Amino acid sequence: MTCDVAVIGAGPAGLAASVAAAAAGLRVVLVDAGDRLGGQYFRHPPDALRTAGPDVTPHGWAEFARLRDALTDHVAAGRVTHLAGHSVWYAEAHAVGAGARFTLHLNGTGNGTGAVQEMRSRTLVVATGAHDRPLPFPGWDLPGVLTAGGAQALLKGNLVVAGRRIVVAGTGPFLLPVAAGLASAGARVEGVFEAGRPERFARHGVRFLRNAGKLAEGAGYAATLLRHRVPFRMGHAVVAAHGDDAVESVTVARLDRDWTPVPGTERVIECDAVAVGYGFTPQMEIPVELGCATRTDADGSLVVVVDAAQRTSVPGVYAAGETTGVGGVQLALAEGELAGLAAAGELGVRTARPPRRLLARRAGLRDFAATLQDAYPVRPGWAGWLRPDTLVCRCEEVPYGRLDEAVRDLGATDPRTAKLISRVGMGWCQGRICGYPTACLTARIRKREPDRTDLAGFARRPLAQPVRLGDLAQSTADDGTDPADRADRTDLAGLADEPDGADRAEEV
Ligand SMILES: Cc1cc2nc3c(=O)[nH]c(=O)nc-3n(C[C@H](O)[C@H](O)[C@H](O)COP(=O)(O)OP(=O)(O)OC[C@H]3O[C@@H](n4cnc5c(N)ncnc54)[C@H](O)[C@@H]3O)c2cc1C
Repeated sequence: MTCDVAVIGAGPAGLAASVAAAAAGLRVVLVDAGDRLGGQYFRHPPDALRTAGPDVTPHGWAEFARLRDALTDHVAAGRVTHLAGHSVWYAEAHAVGAGARFTLHLNGTGNGTGAVQEMRSRTLVVATGAHDRPLPFPGWDLPGVLTAGGAQALLKGNLVVAGRRIVVAGTGPFLLPVAAGLASAGARVEGVFEAGRPERFARHGVRFLRNAGKLAEGAGYAATLLRHRVPFRMGHAVVAAHGDDAVESVTVARLDRDWTPVPGTERVIECDAVAVGYGFTPQMEIPVELGCATRTDADGSLVVVVDAAQRTSVPGVYAAGETTGVGGVQLALAEGELAGLAAAGELGVRTARPPRRLLARRAGLRDFAATLQDAYPVRPGWAGWLRPDTLVCRCEEVPYGRLDEAVRDLGATDPRTAKLISRVGMGWCQGRICGYPTACLTARIRKREPDRTDLAGFARRPLAQPVRLGDLAQSTADDGTDPADRADRTDLAGLADEPDGADRAEEV
């Protein structure tokens, strides 16, 4: 299978990119690990479930319906192929020539339509979104402790409420829709504990007021929480979870400016589920694999550097949505559309729609995203919530004490070495969950700030998604090597090229 544009990810960004590129007349293949279009924000249950449970329709559904219908028309016209239930586990770039520049290796069931193992494209739009960013605390490995996104995904995608008495905690505006959704679906939300402080939020009050759409959305969630009498506390966090076989209660404490718990403010709240989230981590495996230049964003995430047209530093590769910086659904839609139009432009198609309006919209939304990131920083005092026996890596059961030993006593100066010594991040999730906290903790023990190299060390995974050994063995290259070997070579090339790439790329 060969196409003009391969789009990875069918969330808001990938959907908008696919529709824009197809409308310009290009042949598009949209690959997504999920069974249904929509990504995280527009996650929805299958039709058969929909009538049975609570209404979980997110804001902006009309925009999703418009894009979904447009995509369906393009699929019917043969301009778009939607490979649902397929994940890209490895992407390779070839030397520039007349033909396809990219080969994507896929892993999927095909949902009865036949699985595709490999495809080629002339350009590539990476719209792989983000996943949750939890912070460890004593007891966070107990059953019943979920990420905020996990609790919301259960509800939006399966109409399952994670518990009867739920505590929601962390930082960022995302806590509001999570708590409001759970309360509306019948859970008793015992409280929302926002670690951020009110004065930090107030500093940006005028900028928030200017964004009428988001303000109205936030007010809607606040009204739902009020209606359900859900307490909302700023400057507080869940600092420990307790229980034998599952979570039975949490300790909540007031935090000082650096997020160190204020002694004497602790109180215990009974619950059977906890939803925690401290922002999001962009899914960077594919851009890093391809050698795209990266940078550290204001929220401490590793993100792809893009220019005004969403071009990365690698020719033919575009990035949109959360991979270029966590900024919300509207920004993802605008960036996706721009990326689709730019890919069309690169392939010599004149696009009917002048992007000026979109550029202005993207600039405003990026400004708002930067404001949010500044209003909800993760402060370093959370490391003080940990005890030596608190697990940092839940997959490999690595306690904080072992990570501390690897850095303090065994000479690890960076998180990747700490990983090799302590096995932190070596389990099933490959550091997707513990990568960010490990980077922060390693730097803290070394008495420095975490930097781009620390974060990139964890994002560098030769295989972007888990793949069966049988599929890996079958996937042989023209030159007789297997993709995993080539991934290692691409990694090294990317590592060497990255600083130059970062300098060359024009940041918007
Ligand atoms: C769990 C979670 C819940 C969220 N809920 C909200 C919310 O309620 N409100 C809000 O304002 N914001 C929410 N966000 C933020 C949200 O991600 C963005 O606002 C928006 O969805 C970003 O769009 P996107 O297209 O960049 O990425 P996403 O919507 O994350 O879409 C990315 C898509 O790429 C697919 N993908 C990733 N890697 C691969 C691969 N290798 N191969 C194939 N497919 C791949 C994923 O399956 C996904 O469908 C949430 C984020 C997360 C992580």
